This record gives sequence, structure tokens and C-alpha cells, in this order.
Amino acid sequence: MDPRRRRIELVLRIDGAAVAVSAPQPPSPAWLDELLPAQRAIDDAAIAHAVRKAEAGGRTVACAKGCSACCRAQPVPVTPPEAHALLRLVEALTAARRHDIEARFADREQRLRDAGLADAFLQRVDALDADAARTLAHAYFKLGLACPFLDDNACSIHPQRPFVCRQYLVTSDPALCADPFAHKAEVIPMPLHAATAALAISEAAYGRRQHSVPLVLALAYARRHRAELERRFDAEPLFRQWLGALR
Ligand code: SF4
Repeated sequence: MDPRRRRIELVLRIDGAAVAVSAPQPPSPAWLDELLPAQRAIDDAAIAHAVRKAEAGGRTVACAKGCSACCRAQPVPVTPPEAHALLRLVEALTAARRHDIEARFADREQRLRDAGLADAFLQRVDALDADAARTLAHAYFKLGLACPFLDDNACSIHPQRPFVCRQYLVTSDPALCADPFAHKAEVIPMPLHAATAALAISEAAYGRRQHSVPLVLALAYARRHRAELERRFDAEPLFRQWLGALR
């Protein structure tokens, strides 16, 4: 069988329920971002379970196509493999579209540089305490940097959007998402921590501390670390490690 068409069938145990998942088998050896299609399939199954549970409890997801409140200014953290995937996605666009998207990224990066914030995100070596992280996130938010992939209030990379975009689902008034520092939205709790697990296997694979970067800096980060991100690994043990780090 064509290895690109092989699938992994597995059953997740979430809240005592069995959640069946069919995911594409990653190639091996693989770049870490080549694990993402399988990871997204598992994450999506867990998210769907979380939504069913919330709806059974009388809550309704308010997020829908056409609402882009959380894409307009909030920092969207992406892991290094996701940054690499986004760079490869942009590089595969048509010339005109790539020019447009790269210009949007360049604009956001320059505005972060002008505000003196870009290196704080790109060169982080130590974890920030909660207060410092919130202060940095608020400074970012005040710049009003819309996601470069946002078109007509819709995500133009929806199937490939990052873990945090997939998992951020609210049941409160979407208007509250316009300023999360002034209002607390009611977010559906997620049973699996896909991004945290992706950071863990990145650290194991690359042998150094890893951190997320705001999506608007994904291209800058991936270009800076391209040699590291293009190291290939035996996919199976890393994928198992990711599964084990999800909770
Ligand atoms: S990737 Fe898509 S969902 Fe995520 S912030 Fe950008 S436009 Fe919004």
C-alpha cells in the first residue's frame, strides 16, 4: 500500500468515553511538522468530544464562520513545527498570493519591531511568569495585529490552522472576545493539550528548550531556525511520545 495512504486507527479514553480516531500515518523519517496531519485528526476528535459534552450540559458554541474577533488582535501562539508548516504553506502559494501574505507578515513583524516586542517573542529562552506573560501579551494585543491569514472575516487556512485556533471555542457572547483583557470569555475546556505535547517532543528531538511564538512571527522564526526544523526523525517514537504527553 502507498505509505502516504496508510492510516492509524486508535481509541482515545476521554472522560471515561471511548473516542475512535482515524489519522493519516506520518511518513518516516519525518520533519516534526509532518506529524501535524495525524496530530490534528486526534486533536479534532478530542475537540468534538469536548463540544458534545458542553452541548449536553446546555452550552452552545458561539464561534462560527464570519466571527473573527479572536483573529484580529490576540497573540496566537504556534509551536516550532507549526511555524515550519506555515512557512512551507506560504512558500507553496501562488506567486501573487504569496506576495500578499508575505507582505502582511512583514507588516506585523515590523510593527512588533517598532514597538520593541519582536525579540521578546523570538528570542525567549526562559519561561515567563504569569504576570510577565500577561503584560507582554497585553502589549501585543494593543497593537491590533490581525492574523495574516484572515480574509473577509474568515480563516483562509482553516484545515491547517494551529492547535490553539482549533481549540479556542467559546460559549459566551462573541463580543467579549474582542478584548479578552477587559472581559473573560467562557471557553470550552479541552481534554488534550496538543500544543504543549508538540513543544515537549520538539525539545526531545532538537535537544534544547523550545517555545511558542506568535503566529505573526512564524515565518521569521521558521526561517531563522530552518536547519533545525529540517532535521528528520524516526516518526513512530516521537508520535508515541506526543500521544503520551497530551494530558
Ligand atoms: S490561523 Fe485562522 S483561525 Fe487562526 S488566528 Fe489566523 S485566521 Fe484566525
